Amino acid sequence: MSTLDENLAKAQTYLDGYRESGVENLIDGQSLPASSGDTFETISPVDLKPLASVAQGTAADIDRAAKAATKAFPAWAAMPGKERKAILHRIADAIVERAEEIAFLESLDTGQSIRFMAKAALRGAENFRFFADQAPGARDGKTLHGPNQMNFTTRKPIGPVGVITPWNTPFMLSTWKIAPALAAGCTVVHKPAEFSPITARLLADIAHEAGLPPGVWNVVNGLGEDAGRALTEHPDIKAISFVGESRTGQMIMAQGAPTLKRVHFELGGKNPCIVFADADLERALDAAVFMIYSLNGERCTSSSRLLVEESIYDDFTAKVAARAGNIKVGHPLDPDTVVGPLIHPTHEEKVLSYFDVAREEGATIATGGAKADDAPGGGCYVQPTLFTGARNDMRIAQEEIFGPVLTAIPFKDEADALALANDVDYGLSAYLWTSDVTRSLRFADALDVGMIWVNSENIRHLPSPFGGTKASGIGRDGGDYSFDFYMETKNVAIATSDHKIPKLGG
Ligand code: NAD
Repeated sequence: MSTLDENLAKAQTYLDGYRESGVENLIDGQSLPASSGDTFETISPVDLKPLASVAQGTAADIDRAAKAATKAFPAWAAMPGKERKAILHRIADAIVERAEEIAFLESLDTGQSIRFMAKAALRGAENFRFFADQAPGARDGKTLHGPNQMNFTTRKPIGPVGVITPWNTPFMLSTWKIAPALAAGCTVVHKPAEFSPITARLLADIAHEAGLPPGVWNVVNGLGEDAGRALTEHPDIKAISFVGESRTGQMIMAQGAPTLKRVHFELGGKNPCIVFADADLERALDAAVFMIYSLNGERCTSSSRLLVEESIYDDFTAKVAARAGNIKVGHPLDPDTVVGPLIHPTHEEKVLSYFDVAREEGATIATGGAKADDAPGGGCYVQPTLFTGARNDMRIAQEEIFGPVLTAIPFKDEADALALANDVDYGLSAYLWTSDVTRSLRFADALDVGMIWVNSENIRHLPSPFGGTKASGIGRDGGDYSFDFYMETKNVAIATSDHKIPKLGG
């Protein structure tokens, strides 16, 4: 296995090109600075030093990109699905070939540890392969019989679409949103998160080198309230696929209203992990710890509320605390690191502020609860933390902290567990641990969330629907659900008899 020093040396080589020429926009196949000439810096979460300067696009750049996507749309939409499939597979092949480069740049820009980012690159390739294979059938519809009528439906791509992504796992999320759009026949303008823009540009470059025609996929960097806002307001952009915070989703919905934008939202979560005393507790422990302390806890589906049956609460939370205290916090390129630095000082400050909130609310900090001061570079490191003795009405149980911070709450019985699980604004996912099959079915049926894993951590199955209820989102991704969003369904009704037509005026 490589050492930190070897990884750092390789990562610097991969970063060199971006240091020299910066991260430009990619519009109509051309690498361009922002039309204003402005740039901003993306910084390393390890030591807060600049990694690269980034084009700060504005409404003018979004307009140029939207026009390129509009021009490229008819040919891309008309291309036979088999040909689109071949191009998307070539993109997947190229992602696999450059998996190391992607993983290292993603780790440097986000602070996510290399042990998880290596897999994120390969998952990105899988997303392209999966939707590549769906491309030839994307336009297919249904046949629906009426008494005097035969109906058939077809689908067609909705047009140029906007994709807006967050900073937590930018590469994987970009592939997850963009691969189905391209497979459906849409063209794309992508606005990546300003905190971690590097791999979004690398991904688009890979796609063009793999043969994607110019204008089909455009990338415009910039600030959310500026470039992001302009994308959501642009009249040529037919839909916005957004992943990010719930309150940003509210703004995007309002911004898109005048142009009647179709929206797909994957937003925040405060996901319960419910552990009954009859569960396989060793497996439940592994999964609960993994789902909050992997990916720095900066994960929409993290199990950030641990609901444990009263009779095992003390013992189970003591084991979680012991595991959390053992987790290695360190440089994201160190192969032994589990928790790396959080994305940015402003986010670190938000996460750290919840330690005071927990104290004020009367919860106990069972482990962690401070900045990890001894980690290399002195950046945004936070200790893996567990709050015990918490109640569900506390802010630490209701608000998305988005860091390696877990809030554990005891429950009395099944009814109590269900009430606590559902008593939150969010409804993204839930994890249920019990060996009682009947209970698992009853409980899953009553949970108000979009995704439930029973006796399992989050394992994605690409044809299955992904998305949340309540403040966690609108719409579903995955399999055909993605095509429902990126395509318009058209119905054709054909009379199958000389049925009676009302005669007016005759
Ligand atoms: P964010 O909402 O702050 O930013 C996301 C993106 O929106 C960025 O590209 C940003 O520039 C842009 N943006 C901001 N304001 C905008 C505006 N007014 N108009 C248009 N675009 C705008 O989110 P974040 O802090 O980058 O990411 C963390 C959040 O993402 C968490 O809440 C997390 O739960 C969520 N998330 C959800 C999922 C999911 O699948 N449900 C997955 C990953 C992350």
